[in-house]
Amino acid sequence: MAQLEPCPFFIGGEWIESKLAGTPVYNPSVGEVIAECPIGTAADVNAAVEAAHAAFPAWMETPVVERVRILARFKMLLEDNFEDIVRCNTREHGKTLVESRGDVKRGMEVVEFALGVPSLMMGEVLENVARGIDCEAIRQPLGVCVGITPFNFPAMVPLWMYPIAIACGNTFVLKPSEKVPLTAIKIAKLLEKAGLPKGVLNIVHGGREVVDALLTHPKVKAISFVGSTPIARYIYEVGTKHGKRVQSNGGAKNYVILMPDADVENSTRGVIEAAFGCAGERCMAGSTAVVVGGAEKSVLPTLVEATKRIKVGPTDRDAQPDMGAVITKQHANRVQELISIGEQQGAKVLADGRGVKVSEAPNGFYVGATILDHVQNGMTVAQEEIFGPVLNVMHMEDLDAAIELANKSSYGNGASIFTRSGKAAREFKHRAKAGMIGINIGVPASMAWFPFNGWDESFFGDLHMQGREGVQFFTQQKVTTSRWFSYGEGDIWHTEKK
Ligand code: NAD
Repeated sequence: MAQLEPCPFFIGGEWIESKLAGTPVYNPSVGEVIAECPIGTAADVNAAVEAAHAAFPAWMETPVVERVRILARFKMLLEDNFEDIVRCNTREHGKTLVESRGDVKRGMEVVEFALGVPSLMMGEVLENVARGIDCEAIRQPLGVCVGITPFNFPAMVPLWMYPIAIACGNTFVLKPSEKVPLTAIKIAKLLEKAGLPKGVLNIVHGGREVVDALLTHPKVKAISFVGSTPIARYIYEVGTKHGKRVQSNGGAKNYVILMPDADVENSTRGVIEAAFGCAGERCMAGSTAVVVGGAEKSVLPTLVEATKRIKVGPTDRDAQPDMGAVITKQHANRVQELISIGEQQGAKVLADGRGVKVSEAPNGFYVGATILDHVQNGMTVAQEEIFGPVLNVMHMEDLDAAIELANKSSYGNGASIFTRSGKAAREFKHRAKAGMIGINIGVPASMAWFPFNGWDESFFGDLHMQGREGVQFFTQQKVTTSRWFSYGEGDIWHTEKK
């Protein structure tokens, strides 16, 4: 067995190796344990929050241009260490190197966005709201903010949160997923190297006890969460009950509508990427293709052929497969079980990823790319977020029926359409009940300058992550109304006027 990588806490500028019992961090490509993530306690949370709280006054007073200069150095260090982060990300997650590059780049774009905080934090002034009275609104940071993140984007999701939070003058406590803590640690070391003062960013590890301590700590002002819907709802309910500002992203089931006039080659590529990219472990995965009318004869056969050609394998080496492993053995088993449940409930398996053999890595956590056809809305596979390389196919006779079907989903992250018709695309954009719409694009995940815009059960809160909403989330406004009197003969104004 390879030597285990360290998985320290980062509290008040100190990297602290824990003696606590941990949970295994795997290299899913080969099924080997590469680290143990300590399961922290409420005492660890308290130490991290106190460190962040102590660092806040000086950080808030640090001029905003100095704050973002540190982030500019951080961005350069991320570029210099890009491949190293990418390989770490792939090793603990299992996704391909190309996908890891996308993960890290998307996160770096948030840092680029955060460099604009001096402009984005600017307030508003209105002179003469009444005679001789002016009014101004400024933005100030909140204090200690917290981020709790999932396993599927080890680099990007933490970076959705803390670059904006700290650029705005807050301090931060991050709890990365216990399944993938190493990339978050590697990236935080670069921010430390860029000159971030001690205590401005802290990292704690753990599970429910740590999360509950963060949600209820009196010195925490705001919580950003990304993960599955049941936990997202819990975070929102407990966090807001304890007076915190909360933005909480949940799971999803995203529909991709294939119109009869869709370009076969481009839409096949788009759906393959949407359904099987990152082995389907994406909240923006296009997990259901709705085949409309003649698309059944044009796009679907090509899609099935392309799916059968997808090569699954280990991603922790130079020769890269098309698709990597899923996160754990249990998850691989659950995804295969769901495929079988789908089959038992009447779906037709057009491409079958169960029991896939990967000879060069027999202990890796693999599921092959799968297509389930004739899925009906009541089936388990239509209702549950499978979060694996499984594409459901449903058939509808026209666009109206397809939109109606997609809009029945309780989630609302993304929805896409492939068509050559501007009219169909406009109709879909207008009526689809989802916060991120793709037109001839399978995964319309917003870039850093726009909100990551889930609706319904995919998001709990008011202000989304990234973009201007991100800045609003991490700041509170202060409105000052001012009037100045003239004080008679001794007054400078009078003296000068004479
Ligand atoms: P998860 O909900 O299991 O875990 C997310 C975080 O919550 C982790 O840090 C975990 O330690 C913590 N957690 C888990 N169980 C908890 C509990 N009972 N109490 C308190 N905290 C708990 O999610 P995951 O499996 O790591 O990630 C996959 C999920 O995340 C999918 O549902 C996916 O759709 C979703 N996701 C959503 C978005 C989005 O922006 N909407 C982005 C990425 C992932």
